[in-house]
Amino acid sequence: MASGVLLRRVLPFILAVMATWGWQIVYAHDLPPIDLSSTLTSSRAELIHQAVLTIDSHIDWPIRQSVNPEFDPGVGHETGASGSGQWDLVRMASGGLDGVFISIFTPQRQLTEEGYAEANTLANQMIDWTKQLPVDYPDQVAIALTPEDAYRLEQQGKRAIFLGMENGYPLGADIQAVQTFYDRGVRYITLTHSKNNQLGDSSTDDQQLWQGLSPFGETVVHEMNRLGMMVDISHVHDDTFWHVIRLTQAPVIASHSSARTLRDVPRNMDDNMLRAIQENGGVVQLCLLGDYIKEIDQDPRRETALAALSDQQAAWLRGDLSEAEVAELLNQYRAINTQYPEIKPTLADAIDHLDHMVAVMGIDHVGIGSDFDGGGGLSDLKDVSQMPNITQELLARGYTPDDIRKIWGGNLMRVFNQVIDIAEQIQTEAES
Ligand SMILES: [Zn+2]
Repeated sequence: MASGVLLRRVLPFILAVMATWGWQIVYAHDLPPIDLSSTLTSSRAELIHQAVLTIDSHIDWPIRQSVNPEFDPGVGHETGASGSGQWDLVRMASGGLDGVFISIFTPQRQLTEEGYAEANTLANQMIDWTKQLPVDYPDQVAIALTPEDAYRLEQQGKRAIFLGMENGYPLGADIQAVQTFYDRGVRYITLTHSKNNQLGDSSTDDQQLWQGLSPFGETVVHEMNRLGMMVDISHVHDDTFWHVIRLTQAPVIASHSSARTLRDVPRNMDDNMLRAIQENGGVVQLCLLGDYIKEIDQDPRRETALAALSDQQAAWLRGDLSEAEVAELLNQYRAINTQYPEIKPTLADAIDHLDHMVAVMGIDHVGIGSDFDGGGGLSDLKDVSQMPNITQELLARGYTPDDIRKIWGGNLMRVFNQVIDIAEQIQTEAES
């Protein structure tokens, strides 16, 4: 819920609305239809933004922490300043963002015991960092494991931290590892990242390895269904997607994906996939990464400078760089970004994708997954402190308060609850 500057600005409006309709409007999860037409659009947006549960399903903070160990997530950082990243607890509060899924991301390397073990160690380290947040900042934040946790924490004025794992690589070849990570708090697994792994094919590898899921990947989907973990199909190859849709007993999510009709890249979802998600009862969380939203001509000098780093980048992904070399590579990226800043699409460009997805799938199957700290960010949506801009844009386009509640987390929490219910059914049937 509200805090700081935002609360001070919207408090008069909250009080005015409460005088008419009472507290339940501010706290209700199901917003009754509110006629706010007498209030300015910007103030109405702030009021709605504070009233609904707002969840971002993809924040890549741990990878930032791994390259910048001095970063303190409990301190507010300046938007856009060097080293600020795009997420911290203070900006999360000022942006009225109630909950996030922190991405436990590991880069894809060799499919060997050694590679699996290294990824497993890194994933556990990232989970440790994330679980340290409520230890260090107990008044601000808590770990959430269920939708109920998120709604309860919102009432308490605390930020909810969910764990999502991006890339099933750390599972190795061990099906027990799914339960181990579940027990540590992980509530979704993005089956692959940018390369094929032992679970299945990725949308962005050079060639396919499995023609969909691997046999082990099939077992993992069953195990996730049994445990009540959300199966995340962002990043997977189209064949893997359809394989999952045929196999899963529960609705699936795309934690950060956009619409291929508007931007034709393999990371986005075509209309048939969107319709399949609608039928499956799942949700697609709009990804706010520029290149997935709109193709924009960049300064050719930027392109040349970035191309010069591609060998080093490939070496980093293979795990062939020392820590010092990684730091040097990141410095070079930062220098390029300062000298030739990337021209990014606007939030309106991104909401065009959302409009399209709603037109194809309906309002009950969309949400927001920014990919902040993992490449996300738009010219007028630079970090989590600017999340109210999304609500303002949605309101300006005619979405109702109830639509906005669904988009901002209602749909994702509904899917999450269904996944939990189905897991309980599977476990009950197994016992009888
Ligand atoms: Zn990603």
